[in-house]
Amino acid sequence: MGSDRLAERLRERGYRATPQRLAVGRAMQRLAHHATADQVAEALARDMPGLALPTVYAALEVLETLGDVRRVATIGGTAYFETTARPHHHAICTRCGTIEDLEAEAGLKPVLEAARRVGFADARAEVTILGTCPRCRGRTP
Ligand SMILES: [Zn+2]
Ligand SMILES: [Zn+2]
Repeated sequence: MGSDRLAERLRERGYRATPQRLAVGRAMQRLAHHATADQVAEALARDMPGLALPTVYAALEVLETLGDVRRVATIGGTAYFETTARPHHHAICTRCGTIEDLEAEAGLKPVLEAARRVGFADARAEVTILGTCPRCRGRTP
């Protein structure tokens, strides 16, 4: 999605299309999955010197409200974000915080239907599997 489109969608939702929000949106498209606010700030350090971490965080939260970005997990107080362009599930190691993308069909229809029954619209669902990764188990996968 282009940043013009993001600017438009920000305005539609009553947000100002600030250069910071647009830059964070672009950085999230560019960065690998599961970026922290720190990594986003780092990626933008050259383009936007002086961009403060709280500003990045706030921009990520706005993009989350828009549905462009989602919080994958918060591990040891650090939140990991990714774009919602490619829906998938996750396995997260509860010891070291490793996040693996999982490409699998999940039978979430009954859960989404239950959400609709309690009045939720635009519902989406992803599965997060918690466990111990092979490295923490001292094995290769
Ligand atoms: Zn681990
Ligand atoms: Zn992911």
